Amino acid sequence: MRCSVCGGTSFSHSQVLWDGLVAEWEINDVERKYIDRQQGSRCNACGTNFRSIALAGSIMEHWSFRGTFRDFVREFPHLKALEINEASDLTRPLSDLSDRILAEYPAVDMHEMPYADQKFDLVVHSDTLEHVKNPVAALKECRRVLRPGGLLAFTVPVIVDRMSRTREGLAKSYHGFPTTGTDDYLVYTEYGSDMWRQVIEAGFDSVKINTFDFPAGIAISACIHNAG
Ligand SMILES: [Zn+2]
Repeated sequence: MRCSVCGGTSFSHSQVLWDGLVAEWEINDVERKYIDRQQGSRCNACGTNFRSIALAGSIMEHWSFRGTFRDFVREFPHLKALEINEASDLTRPLSDLSDRILAEYPAVDMHEMPYADQKFDLVVHSDTLEHVKNPVAALKECRRVLRPGGLLAFTVPVIVDRMSRTREGLAKSYHGFPTTGTDDYLVYTEYGSDMWRQVIEAGFDSVKINTFDFPAGIAISACIHNAG
C-alpha cells in the first residue's frame, strides 16, 4: 500500500468508532473494523487517513496525474477548487491551490451555494453528504457550479453489504465524537453500496469509484461531460 498524498508506505491504526454509534448504525464487527480503518488509519509520514488517500487518488486520476497529491497541487496551482467543509486531511494540500475556496457550514449551505454556474474545475467534500438533509439537491448544486470537464470528488462512510437508508424516523445519530452531539454532525443518510445513485439522480451521467484498502477507503467521483 502506498499513500497517494506523500508516497509513504507505512501506516498506523487507531480506533475511532464508539459502541453507541455502532449500535445506532447496526453494523457488525467486520464493518466496524473497516470503518475504523477508513477514519482512523493514517500514513505515518504525512498523517493522511484512508478516506483522504482514496479521495486524492480519484482527483489525480481525473487529471491523468501519476505522482503524489503534493506534487499534483504544485503541477496544477491555478485549479479552481471548491472545498465544502474541510476535506479531512486533504484540506492542507488543497490550501496550496491559489484559487481554492473553502466553504464551511453554516456560512455556506450546500443546498444553495453562493457561486456562479460553472465556476469551478473541482468540487471536493469528505464525509459531509451524510449530514445534509437533501443530498440530491446538494449534489445538484455541486453539478451547477462545475464547468464542463470539471470533477466532483467526495467520500461518505459506506457499508458495502447493504443499501443506503435514511435515518428519518430513527433515533438521532451523530458522528464526530461521542460527546459532540451537535446538529452539524447529525446523520441524515447511512450510505450503502448504492451510494452512486444520488449522483446520477443529481444529473451526472457517470460515476467512478476509487478505493484504497477496500472497503475502508472509497471515493466517489463524477464528471460533467457537457453543460446541458
Ligand atoms: Zn502520506
